[in-house]
Amino acid sequence: MKEFKAESKRLMELMINSIYTNKEIFLREIISNASDAIDKLHYESLTNKKMKVNKKDFAIIVKVNKEDRTLTVSDNGIGMSKEELEKNLGTIAKSGSFDFKNENKKKENIDIIGQFGVGFYSAFMVASKVEVISKSYGSDEAYSWVSKGIDGYEIKKANKESYGTDIIITIKDEEEYNRYLEDFEIRNLIKKYSDYITYPIKMEEDKKLETINSLIPLWRRNKKEVSEEEYNTFYSDKFFDYEKPLSHLHIKAEGLLEYASLLYIPSHASYDYYSKEYEKGLQLYSNGVLIMEKCGDLLPDYFSFVKGVVDSSDLSLNISREMLQQNRVLKTIASNIEKHVKSELLSMQKNNREDYLKFWESFGLQIKAGIYDNFGMDKEKLEDLLMFYSSKEDKMVTLDEYFQNNQDEKDIYYACGSSVDQIKSLPQVENLIAKNKDILLCTTYLDEFALKAINKYQDKEFKNVCSDNIENETEEEKEELKTLNEKDRDILNLMKEAIDVKEVKFTSRLTNHPVCLSTVGNISVEMEKVMNSMPTNNNINAEKVLEINYQHPIVKKLEELYKNDKEELKKFSKVLYAEARLIEGLPIENPTEITDLICEILVK
Ligand code: ADP
Repeated sequence: MKEFKAESKRLMELMINSIYTNKEIFLREIISNASDAIDKLHYESLTNKKMKVNKKDFAIIVKVNKEDRTLTVSDNGIGMSKEELEKNLGTIAKSGSFDFKNENKKKENIDIIGQFGVGFYSAFMVASKVEVISKSYGSDEAYSWVSKGIDGYEIKKANKESYGTDIIITIKDEEEYNRYLEDFEIRNLIKKYSDYITYPIKMEEDKKLETINSLIPLWRRNKKEVSEEEYNTFYSDKFFDYEKPLSHLHIKAEGLLEYASLLYIPSHASYDYYSKEYEKGLQLYSNGVLIMEKCGDLLPDYFSFVKGVVDSSDLSLNISREMLQQNRVLKTIASNIEKHVKSELLSMQKNNREDYLKFWESFGLQIKAGIYDNFGMDKEKLEDLLMFYSSKEDKMVTLDEYFQNNQDEKDIYYACGSSVDQIKSLPQVENLIAKNKDILLCTTYLDEFALKAINKYQDKEFKNVCSDNIENETEEEKEELKTLNEKDRDILNLMKEAIDVKEVKFTSRLTNHPVCLSTVGNISVEMEKVMNSMPTNNNINAEKVLEINYQHPIVKKLEELYKNDKEELKKFSKVLYAEARLIEGLPIENPTEITDLICEILVK
């Protein structure tokens, strides 16, 4: 018996104690090795005309034997000589695949998955013993390599008829490993991890060999040859979503960076999409072999709804294949994908508004969050994707459409609330709509945060019609208002004392309604509501202004009270302020006092 080299021993130890989180991936590693071995033979046969191998015969055969507790993976690839068994399986850092690739660097057409010599050892995560029987192509002798783990290995002469390699894995005799002796489990694992290996992977079914894998992945096929239905079936099979996606993108990049990608924009958010449990990411393949179920680095958070796969031959993988070594390649792919997704969304917005609105309904919140996340770093990238409800158009519009429709306006108007109808009925809004102004009606809690982060669109400022000062009076009206505010300054001050606001003033922005609430400073009423509803932030107070319609009969009444009954004026102030809060959807802090006051006034 020979001992493993020191570094191999250490790695083997790691393997037995599982550095892979999923032990089941051992099968993927063994099958990938088999596929590599066939690749090598295939490649040599292309360059050496004397070799007589038929491409059609290439296959990987997987057999389960419950009685012996063995799982055997056989290939008719290049095989290993005695020296190669020793070199490749006795020493860890020596990866035969890597050597081969380096020697043949200039030659094209080699797809070799493994570049680091560790994959094979992963078998020891599930095996009590591994036997490798191999016959190198063109040789008369076969050899067997056997190991029971850390202690070492033995190489002996063996009998094997044809070239290639059999890997016979004796599965550990413990309950948790029994699944690796179940035919259907093995089939599932092949489907899951090795579906797109380019050689047939066969298993026995009714005494006949049956191919389990799909062979050519959809994303590697020519776009013109793939039907809409195939794209959609692939989506539902792979991502378990039985509603058709809104669109798919099939990307094939060649040149400096080679990769293929198939991406989908779902038509609805999954039940956990907006929860902490949701994990973004794309499936990552290297040459048709799944190496990561969800590669989060491929998608920015704001596009986390995208589903799909990426397959590249330009990725080198580190020891566990679960962590990627060359981030630079991944970053470039990610940034290309981001551009593709964005342009797909813009084209949907332009050419298929109905679908885009469905998208917006499901994922608009995510885009808005993306606008103000990271201190607004990505806002320029995302602002064109935004949609808001236009009061004038009575439908959702983009910022650009609003801009085009309202060229003569100085600012961009918006108002916030819980529904389109509720916002429309706010006194300030009602009044502006009556004057034929176009207002963006914001109904989700993120809208205003996003607009504040954008700050300006094409040099026009966003103005909240409820809090910002929207000047739309005539000079005469302005003058009249100013005089009134000055004349009644004492009345307004007394009212302010009675309630907890920054200011009380007369306004010309209301037509029929007596009062409304506005704010000064950075926090609007809507933002106050949102922030106070969060568990961490409470006691946020917008600086409120009670505005009184200067043409309303209530003004006369207030002036009378100031002369005759200042206490009564204070009571009126409280009721008017409560009214204004109610309209804004704010709670009334002292409801009993207010209802008593109303009653008192009613019975007078
Ligand atoms: P790698 O990442 O290179 O695949 P492995 O530890 O899985 O590392 O395998 C080590 C080496 O053993 C491979 O590079 C290859 O040369 C050889 N090898 C493994 N399996 C086979 C096989 N089925 N046929 C031929 N050679 C194999």
